[in-house]
Amino acid sequence: MNQRLRRLLAAASTTLCATASVAGCSTAKGSDEPSARPTPPGRYASPNPGSVNTYWIKAPDGLVLVDTLRTPDDARKAIAEIKKTGEHVVAILLTHSHPDHVGGAAALHEAFPDAPVHASKATDRAMREDKRGFYPLARSANPRFPARLTYADRTFEDGTPVRIGGLRLETAGFTEGESDTATVYYRPDTGDLFSGDLATGKVTPALIEGNTCGWLQILDRLGRRFPDARTMYPGHGAPGPARTLIDDQRGYLRHVRALVRPAVAPASPAGTGLSPAEQKSLVTAVDRAYPGYPPVADLPTIGQENVKAVARELAAENPAHLPTACADPAR
Ligand SMILES: [Zn+2]
Repeated sequence: MNQRLRRLLAAASTTLCATASVAGCSTAKGSDEPSARPTPPGRYASPNPGSVNTYWIKAPDGLVLVDTLRTPDDARKAIAEIKKTGEHVVAILLTHSHPDHVGGAAALHEAFPDAPVHASKATDRAMREDKRGFYPLARSANPRFPARLTYADRTFEDGTPVRIGGLRLETAGFTEGESDTATVYYRPDTGDLFSGDLATGKVTPALIEGNTCGWLQILDRLGRRFPDARTMYPGHGAPGPARTLIDDQRGYLRHVRALVRPAVAPASPAGTGLSPAEQKSLVTAVDRAYPGYPPVADLPTIGQENVKAVARELAAENPAHLPTACADPAR
């Protein structure tokens, strides 16, 4: 077979495998092509609420899971999907300490007892300290949230690579953004970036920690740290091109900040605070700009809480010393 024909046949096969579940596509051993395309990560999205994701990465020695969903019940649905692969699970990785990503760990640990839970030292500390009281809040919002958390079996320093199941993943840690601390996992041979909640797909994020400016700076750093990232696998919403998800998240945060800013001007009706009317109209404006974006948290008032948190943050900022990343978009 000549080289050109071989390349054409390989390209046709790759396209077919990328668009359909075709027997043989994932077992390309024996092919005389130099390397088979790695199997894309599997995903289970719980609609309970906000499309919370857990992923499974095919490593040489088994599956590596990323995040554990909100509750053991949610995790059991993911477990049923994972078991269909027939693969052994070798590890569970956590991206951050928020309840919707750690609450299902016990069920996964029980189903896959040989798979240790890995987290950065910072995430492990955040889970044990729970300084913001998120876990009691999660339990009061959802009785299915576990009474006791499952902590990491193994910890690592953010920024050091992790080697699990024959796979090497780069890590990077970020603080004071969407969450107080967050870890992303990057697979260099595929360009897959598991971003947790740093960049999510078409969902209403939780801005209640009041760090949108920190989060915007993190998005810039994330793009610079992984310039070759191709596909981003977010903690909520559908995976997509890494650049697009980062740009969309940046656009969302900057737009909400720009909407809230006039309401916290000293000359506005409630001065640097928010009047009930301002709050209501801001929630409506955000909903109108991002219609149908499901909330990521079990918090019926997430829209109000978000605009209140952003208002507090903006009122405390010094516009003269605002990082470029946090500037409002040009009108
Ligand atoms: Zn989340």
